Amino acid sequence: MQAEIKGINEECGIFGIWGHEKAAELTYYGLHAMQHRGQEGAGVVVNDGKRLKGHKGLGLVNDVFKQMDFCDFPGEVAIGHVRYSTQGGKVIENVQPLLFHSQKGGMALAQNGSIMNAYQLRGELEEQGSIMQTSSDTEVLAHLIKKGGREVSASSIADALNKIEGAYTFLILTEKKMYAALDPSGIHPLSIGRLKDAYVVASETCAFDQIGAAFLREVLPGELVTISDEGIQTERFAFRKQRKLCAMEYVYLSRPDSNLNHVNVHTSRKEMGKELAREAPADADIVIGVPDSSISAAIGYAEEIGLPYEMGIIKNRYVGRTFIKPSQQLREQGVKMKLSPVRGIIEGKRVVMIDDSIVRGTTSKRIVNLLKDAGAEEVHVRIASPPILYPCFYGIDMSTRKELIAANHTLDEICDIIGADSVAYLSEEGLEKAIVKSKTIHQGICTACMTGEYPVPLPDDAFDKVREETSASGRSEGNV
Ligand code: AMP
Repeated sequence: MQAEIKGINEECGIFGIWGHEKAAELTYYGLHAMQHRGQEGAGVVVNDGKRLKGHKGLGLVNDVFKQMDFCDFPGEVAIGHVRYSTQGGKVIENVQPLLFHSQKGGMALAQNGSIMNAYQLRGELEEQGSIMQTSSDTEVLAHLIKKGGREVSASSIADALNKIEGAYTFLILTEKKMYAALDPSGIHPLSIGRLKDAYVVASETCAFDQIGAAFLREVLPGELVTISDEGIQTERFAFRKQRKLCAMEYVYLSRPDSNLNHVNVHTSRKEMGKELAREAPADADIVIGVPDSSISAAIGYAEEIGLPYEMGIIKNRYVGRTFIKPSQQLREQGVKMKLSPVRGIIEGKRVVMIDDSIVRGTTSKRIVNLLKDAGAEEVHVRIASPPILYPCFYGIDMSTRKELIAANHTLDEICDIIGADSVAYLSEEGLEKAIVKSKTIHQGICTACMTGEYPVPLPDDAFDKVREETSASGRSEGNV
């Protein structure tokens, strides 16, 4: 499939465990803790001691594994995946882990993020006789690893990784070893933990807490970790660049109880709220947050400004993430079903409504409406991250520039469109400051969707398209 000129596509979660008798079951729990990273499909591949065996399906982790008796899935090693994609890829073939069998043994792969030159590599591989079964870029890596009939090993994986450009984390499983890799800029999170004698690897540390594992360390940018019965080995497959951990992981994507780069996500969001209060105070009576991802920032804002934080909106827990719906119509319907204002709290009040981000503007518009219908006197929208102006090509669903409200409208226009009494965003400096403040080592964050500074080079067609759209909108920041 052509790499769409869009910000795409996989904000997934990956999990792996080596050396525990309940490997498949623990993988299920780990995936469950990371359900927020993808709700379209899930899968597990286990090594039963002889061969790799997989189970996967479309839907939530619970649904996919509902009928599954883990006793039928014995084995001490497993990897798993939860998937979120946007375009055309919502078919069972693309649900991961991808599992391949050959005379030399099996290989399973699970990926978070995206390979930017997948389209070009796929073309080259097909020219040389490869036939692909999926439209997933993960399959491209599988073919690169096995090219020329090579054994799956740290060196064949390192060679393959050096052919791809992208923002990715991978787990690769064979009957003998498990491999974990992070791209040279470290755009997505991946951590290693320990559960008694077992090693655990997960996109988010909340998965460790779920199964009682202890955090050991993060996988480093450009690092390939090999886990086997001999223990853990590491090598650098690529020159390590300055870490550029995705800012949206802090802002929205990760769970508040996870730590990213030694920073607790809730703490960093609270700091974002505090910074926002300092930068854009509002004259109001109460502060409310859009559940769930904005609660931390709203608490920080209220604390800093000295206003009561109130539960002004209730979320219906039985409706999935609205953003993770493949069409605008479904998203709008989703917001309506999901959030209800608390009239008794809102009525007659001047409300500061904190959201973590605005992408298309659907959520803010809908909530301002709900609040006004519930009798709010004024609604001041405060966004705990900078305006999103550019698409993300590294695996966060950020659409095309055309759909990004801040890329096409001034602040006053946004205020009008969403029907608020005032709108303000956190500045880029404020965001950086908030993240740095809540951690000890500052290693850099990727803010490409806010600044247009893409740390990993874009494929030519994507680059041209962003530049075209950028000049059409009269902006010229960033490296496009
Ligand atoms: P929108 O309604 O399109 O403006 O989207 C903004 C809402 O989606 C915010 O309330 C965020 O919590 C959430 N959000 C922001 N970025 C993402 C993302 N990359 N994936 C899923 N949801 C997001």
